Amino acid sequence: MPVRVRFAPSPTGELHVGNARTALFNWLFARRNRGVFVLRIEDTDVERSEARYEGQLMEDLKWLGLDWEEGPDCVGDCGPYRQSERLGLYQHYAQELIAAGSAYYCFCSPEDLNKERLEAQAAGSQPKYSGKCRVIPPAEAISRKKAGETASVRLRIPDEPLRFDDLVGGMVEFSPDVIGDPILLRSSGTAAYNYAVVIDDGLMQISHVIRGDDHISNTPRQVAVYQALARLPSPATDGCDWRLPQFAHLSTILGPDHTRLSKRHGVTSLAHFRERGVLPEALANYLALLGWAPSGGDREIFSLPELVEAFSLEQVSRSPAIFDSVKLHWMNRHYLKQSDPERVLDLAIPIFRAVGQIGESPGEDLRQWLREVVDLLLPAVDDLSQLPEQAGVIFNYDAAASIANEENQQVLAEPSARQVIEGFAKLAQQDGELTVERFRAVLDQVKKTTRQKGKSLFHPVRIALTGSPSGRQLDRLVPLLEAGSRLKLPTPVKSCRQRLMEFQQAWQR
Ligand code: GLU
Repeated sequence: MPVRVRFAPSPTGELHVGNARTALFNWLFARRNRGVFVLRIEDTDVERSEARYEGQLMEDLKWLGLDWEEGPDCVGDCGPYRQSERLGLYQHYAQELIAAGSAYYCFCSPEDLNKERLEAQAAGSQPKYSGKCRVIPPAEAISRKKAGETASVRLRIPDEPLRFDDLVGGMVEFSPDVIGDPILLRSSGTAAYNYAVVIDDGLMQISHVIRGDDHISNTPRQVAVYQALARLPSPATDGCDWRLPQFAHLSTILGPDHTRLSKRHGVTSLAHFRERGVLPEALANYLALLGWAPSGGDREIFSLPELVEAFSLEQVSRSPAIFDSVKLHWMNRHYLKQSDPERVLDLAIPIFRAVGQIGESPGEDLRQWLREVVDLLLPAVDDLSQLPEQAGVIFNYDAAASIANEENQQVLAEPSARQVIEGFAKLAQQDGELTVERFRAVLDQVKKTTRQKGKSLFHPVRIALTGSPSGRQLDRLVPLLEAGSRLKLPTPVKSCRQRLMEFQQAWQR
């Protein structure tokens, strides 16, 4: 049987890492097995579904590097690929199931059902539909329905255990005692998830259902729907024999505190990571290792094609995976370092612009300068959103704050610090800008005249120029400050000369 898998998100919000991992595993499995990856939009919940989320999630998936052969935006033989456009199919099969006696009309009102639920709760038993409408003779039910009574359609759960063999979790069995007859069609005519998902997976000839383990408790209901459809007098007329797909339920993703990953753990939407300048290949690599590990070895860096090559469902772990942003950042740093600098620059520009460090549409000279800025600062960041803060050393210079800083004061309290800064400032301000060569020559000179070296030479100079005794290499930073001061920027970059002047003035006060 050819491999056909699907990712079936509900467009009710942003795509989160948990769902993105589900999509990724499906995609990897499809690509590994030269199968088909289907994108199906489960938008039957009209109130919560929004078209903009559908667009956004497709964009997010593409950003992550995933593509699909069949979906709402491409042609395929099993469409339409939005559940809202498949209502006719759901209704058709519901009628067949009713005619075959596997499903029945339920006339219970929400109040009746609520009462049943409360009674069950009071009796300490698990709430489950009583099956009250099961016994209404079909002819009577049909005429009541025709007469305009509102009714949902329910599946008759057979009186035998419901089983499925999960590729991750092994054999799973549910007693029929805990499964009430599930609703197939709501009284409004819309399809319930457990029903629509089976009609769709069946008709779309899905071979493997790979999804989060929060759906394990839904699966016995879905198994019952498959079985009922397979018992229809001519089940295979649509090219579908309603055989169970292989299920593979992926373990839950937990936060560092070992509770289910949620908003409490911070923003986990893909859009968020993308905005923060996490590279898609880093996130994909990271997500792939959330609950899956390659066989043999502890290799961790994998490109998408390498993941495709290595992926198998057998290596998917049953135990929950912990979302560890430290590791994600480690991977991101790895990929940032390897990335084409032009690409990193293009991603960084909107980030600098958003905080107002640069203006609209930078010209070539500004791009060239930013290229060097990014190159200098990149090793100090986990993701690109941290660049503006790191670039503070270039964009925000405040002599008074630097002098007031406690850590700096300890350095400045040394009598030699004044000698060093005064000597440096005098030479540095003499002529022209501080190229790397001049900067080094000036430092050499100061070293000779003050007999200071190492920390007691560098720290005071750093503090005077940048406001901090530590940071990126000075001989790369200094020329950038000089070049930056010649550019037109929303807040001008101060040259070394200006910095030294402001520092000395503030220090005298
Ligand atoms: N729409 C469901 C969800 O987003 C899909 C579940 C499934 O894959 O069957 O959770």
